[in-house]
Amino acid sequence: MGHIVENLDRVRQKIREAALRGGRAPEEVQLLAVTKTVPVETIQQVVDAGQFRLGENRVQELLSKYPHVQGPVRWHIIGTLQTNKVKYIYDKVELIHSLDRLSLAEAIHKHAGLLQRPIDCLVEVNVSGEESKHGVPKQELVPFLRSLSSLDGVHIRGLMTMAPFVDNSEEIRWVFRELRQLSLEVRELNLARVEMQHLSMGMTNDYEVAVEEGATIVRVGSGLFGERR
Ligand SMILES: *Cc1c(COP(=O)(O)O)cnc(C)c1O
Repeated sequence: MGHIVENLDRVRQKIREAALRGGRAPEEVQLLAVTKTVPVETIQQVVDAGQFRLGENRVQELLSKYPHVQGPVRWHIIGTLQTNKVKYIYDKVELIHSLDRLSLAEAIHKHAGLLQRPIDCLVEVNVSGEESKHGVPKQELVPFLRSLSSLDGVHIRGLMTMAPFVDNSEEIRWVFRELRQLSLEVRELNLARVEMQHLSMGMTNDYEVAVEEGATIVRVGSGLFGERR
């Protein structure tokens, strides 16, 4: 299983190189290891190799692994989150990547009250406009952010997107560029509890282009753990 640690080193190296190509500091980019379908023993190997940020897209799967992975792990939830499942994860995750509607923000706000601190979230934006994609349509992003203004339990830390699946990642460079552009526009508005420090964009097939275009979090699964079955 040594190859997983080799994969980790290779992905980290590629992130560094892409950051430098983009004129950025490599430390600005966090690698989130996406562990869906990956067994706990395998996850433990990357954690033991110093990869502490882990992402799951399903609440049930996160809960089943959460108690069993040892170390200073910080879990992120990256997939569509049902409002009635916030109660299971609100005190277990560092960041929710998939805030995409007001009802979910209200549920997060309510649970932040129990924690007595705001919960960090990214707004998922459907940049490409593909119907199959989740996320707030880009033209609704600013109205959506404004609609959160009374929810002081929700702290917006940036934006997230999923690019369309293509063979040549150059074809979707514009998606990443556009998410970054949106974040700059939002920053200008100076909304309360809306900070644009993170851009969660880029997966195994396209993270290098995403980093060149400003990603601060890349979500890599199969590039670390192999193809999912
Ligand atoms: C599965 C998943 C990833 C990682 O996908 P890979 O192509 O395996 O790197 C990233 N983001 C989300 C939201 C996912 O569900």
